[in-house]
Amino acid sequence: MIVKLDHIGIAVSNMEESLKLYTEILGMKLEGTETVEEQKVKVAFLPVGDTEVELLESTDAEGPVAKFIENKGQGIQHLAFRVDDIEAALAHCKERGLRLIDEKPRYGAGGAKIAFLHPKGTNGVLIELCQRD
Ligand code: ZN
Repeated sequence: MIVKLDHIGIAVSNMEESLKLYTEILGMKLEGTETVEEQKVKVAFLPVGDTEVELLESTDAEGPVAKFIENKGQGIQHLAFRVDDIEAALAHCKERGLRLIDEKPRYGAGGAKIAFLHPKGTNGVLIELCQRD
């Protein structure tokens, strides 16, 4: 079901400052940025090997990333696992009693189909399932 670790989502309060850390100090390459209106978030993509770091900066004080930082501070917000069939993966998880945040996939950064599992059912980890065609 799960193919690979697609990306690690990191909530940051200042994208520009964080990018300095990841690019100038840690030497990673910024591949691009994108604003996902639906999630009220600006995303920066930094590939690393076969996966990538995605920095997430909220564009709205009421957005999920802003709420996350308010509650927990900056840091790792979610893990995204690549699946080859997201509808089947969601059905699989639901059948086994996992709580879903998204019953149906929606579109995330990079045009991927994404859906989140509720962290209450996954030992506190916000897991994103992600399908890229
Ligand atoms: Zn993600």
